[in-house]
Formats: sequence, structure tokens, C-alpha cells
Amino acid sequence: MVHVKQYGPVAVYRMGRSIGRLVLYPVHAFMIGDAMIDTGPRCVRDEFRAALNGTTIRVAVNTHHHEDHTGNNGLLQRERGARIYAPPGALPYLANPRLLRLRPYQRVVWGRPDPSNGEPVPAVVTMGRHALNAIHAPGHSHHHICLHEPREGWLFTGDLFCGRIFKYLRLDENYSLILSTLKILSELECKTIFCSLKGVVEGGGDALRSKIRFMEDLRGRVLDLHERGASPRAITRRLLGGEGFMTTVTGGHYSKLNTVLSIIHNTEPEALA
Ligand SMILES: [Zn+2]
Repeated sequence: MVHVKQYGPVAVYRMGRSIGRLVLYPVHAFMIGDAMIDTGPRCVRDEFRAALNGTTIRVAVNTHHHEDHTGNNGLLQRERGARIYAPPGALPYLANPRLLRLRPYQRVVWGRPDPSNGEPVPAVVTMGRHALNAIHAPGHSHHHICLHEPREGWLFTGDLFCGRIFKYLRLDENYSLILSTLKILSELECKTIFCSLKGVVEGGGDALRSKIRFMEDLRGRVLDLHERGASPRAITRRLLGGEGFMTTVTGGHYSKLNTVLSIIHNTEPEALA
């Protein structure tokens, strides 16, 4: 499934593998002028190619190396001659997607990207009439950037924002780093968030502050129970409820327990520096 919706000058691509009317974990990519931010999962390559008909793509920027953000780099590079920009730490994964070590659910839901040759993303990327600043934004992955258009107040957050509240964390995500990055981003002029998970989120600054409050509150409650001797599993059940479908499908790659463990073990962002 590939759906394209226009939001002012930004084309919003919603993409995901569909089974009947069900779309499995869809992701969003964005096009401004002749440039794209992220390229979606490879499993929708044919539909994506058809959706691009009549467009010119000069450049694509990956927010990070994950397979649902880099899946069609190869198509854009080989068939459209696009330059691929990505954070420097992501480049080896683009060249050799086997380094991603995809789990079975990832291969089924999104597929393995074709290889592509990326270049380090410049500090400022021109997209149509817009200049976007690349901002290092670790937490979801160490090699993650957000793109900010200060004049319009646009913030392209990749997988860093993903909604005001959440319960599940990926095994390799760092709760404290996400929180400290969100605080840095909340200082920016942000009217609209363009999120890989949620799509277009208006009232961007409020949404960022609301997520920061949620995360600070949850961290406080987790650490309080931890200091009183509760086990990570007991804290998880009490504050976030039992594990759900997501934990089962991903084999624990995403889980509520990951959230609690990340809070307990990485209370300082420097812990993983
Ligand atoms: Zn990701």
C-alpha cells in the first residue's frame, strides 16, 4: 500500500505491506520539491515506483539506517539517479544491508533494503525552495538525524517522536537519550512535526513538550518503585500493564519491559556515550 497526500508543499507518503484491508506497521516518508526524506520499506517497491510517476527525485535523505526508512534507496539511486544522504554512521548499513541483521518479523513486515551508496548528509539540505538543517538526534538509534525547516516551523523527526505517549521500546533504544534529544528539539521553532509513525502532527511544539512531560513522569514513577525494591517485571505490570501483541510478534524486540529496563539502567544520557 502506498498512499500519497499533500500537506501544503509536502507530499506525505504512507507505505506498508497490506494483507487484505490490514496494513502492517505503515511508515511515512515525505517529499518536498525534488527531494525525499526517507524512502519507505522495500516491500512496497513496485507501488512506490508507480506512485513516483511524473516526479523528479534529485536527492533522498535517510533519517537513520533502519530498513523501513532506507528500503527504496536503491530504486531512487539506480532508476532515478538520486543522491542518497544519510548520517555517517548509517552509511555502512546502506552499502551492506545484511549488517542490519533483520529479525524474521522485520523481513516479513518491511523487507531487506537493496544496497545503495550514501554520502554523509550535509549540515543544510536544499529541498525545493526550502533549506533544512540536519540535527543529530540520538536515542532511537545513535545514527539518527532530524531535519528542521526554521522558516516554516517544520520538524521531520524520523523515529524519534512517534507520538505523545508510548509503552513499548525497542531493545536498542535509549530512553534517556530520547528524552534529552526531545528537550533540545523542543527549543526549536516547531509548528508541525512530520513523524515516520504518526504522519503529520500539528501543534508540534506542544506535542514535543507533552511527550517530555509523559517521559519524565514515567521515569520518576519507575525509579521510585525501583528504589523501593520492585523488580523490573513487577514495575512493568504495575505501570504499563501486561505485554501485548507487539511483544509477541517482534519476539521481544519491542516490549514494555525494555522501556522499564532502559529507564533503570540508563538514568544518565552519558551512560552510553
Ligand atoms: Zn527506526
